[in-house]
Amino acid sequence: MNESMNNLIRQEISKAQKVLLVSHIRPDGDAIGSLIGLGLALEAAGKNVNLVSIDGAPSSLKFLPGYQKINQSVEDGFDLLIVVDCSDWQRTGLATKIEDKPGINIDHHITNDHFARINWVDTTAAATAEIIAENITSWGLELNQEIARALLTAIITDTIGFRTSNVSPRTLRIAADLLSSGISINEIYMQALVNRSLEAMRYWGAGLNKLQKEDGMVWTSLTLDDQNKTGYYGKDDADLINIISGIEGIPISIIFIEQPGGGVKVSWRAQPGYDVSRVAQEFGGGGHPAAAGAMFDSGLKEVQEIVIRNTRKLLNNYKSS
Ligand code: AMP
Ligand code: MN
Ligand code: MN
Repeated sequence: MNESMNNLIRQEISKAQKVLLVSHIRPDGDAIGSLIGLGLALEAAGKNVNLVSIDGAPSSLKFLPGYQKINQSVEDGFDLLIVVDCSDWQRTGLATKIEDKPGINIDHHITNDHFARINWVDTTAAATAEIIAENITSWGLELNQEIARALLTAIITDTIGFRTSNVSPRTLRIAADLLSSGISINEIYMQALVNRSLEAMRYWGAGLNKLQKEDGMVWTSLTLDDQNKTGYYGKDDADLINIISGIEGIPISIIFIEQPGGGVKVSWRAQPGYDVSRVAQEFGGGGHPAAAGAMFDSGLKEVQEIVIRNTRKLLNNYKSS
């Protein structure tokens, strides 16, 4: 199956001259690393490539060559549309702007709805970049050091430094191959995962001060007031969820983040054996068993109530099964 799928992708790529490559809104390291990695490889093969992330890219990834090539809008036409690390077409933020059905969907989300003509969805991959790195030469493209740096950054960020439960021997072999191109793992680790601004750490403090716990779950919130008090104006939780999901003996952790334009973003994390993508999907969100998210229009208090109630139900299902 892999071989015929790879042949199809190779043919699509070889036919195309203008490629539009897009990823998901509120992009993470896998979205951007996959976009840049595949984009640079297509460019090296002589394609005219347009990389689009409508929300731009996190400044922590500025060190990646190719970062400056990312556009926030689609201006030109294209003859092949490739979507990476995105579970559904709506999540590109481009569904209202582009009528064509995407050509290729490369992803690893369990909630992927196979929205393209060719859907390469491997839910055993720890990152979309793992799929790209493994198959890129079968697609008629070549790896170089800059591409390897982007793809390894994507794998390291999506696995939080190789610590998530979906990291496999294959993930590490692919990472080792990318590393052998001569790039620095220390640079990627520090730039993309470890370094934080003072403001972001103070923002963590605001969230940590409000931690709440009940049987099986912990949660906290980050408000616009917390942003103003700490001076952190980045998107989301500055990855605080990765800290609170380390609280011992707690299978599920949740963060509620008040949004500047109204509404609340919710992030769930779960220990192995629990699937929080199910509860995220109940609210129109998605993700992986161990990491999921959803966006809400209502206010913080209301969202907290309904999300805690439904997550409690999910936990109770596990207890009774
Ligand atoms: P986050 O909590 O934003 O770090 O997201 C955790 C995982 O869930 C990532 O793989 C996201 O791509 C996915 N995810 C987050 N929000 C949504 C959403 N609204 N719809 C679909 N997938 C989402
Ligand atoms: Mn992603
Ligand atoms: Mn991913």
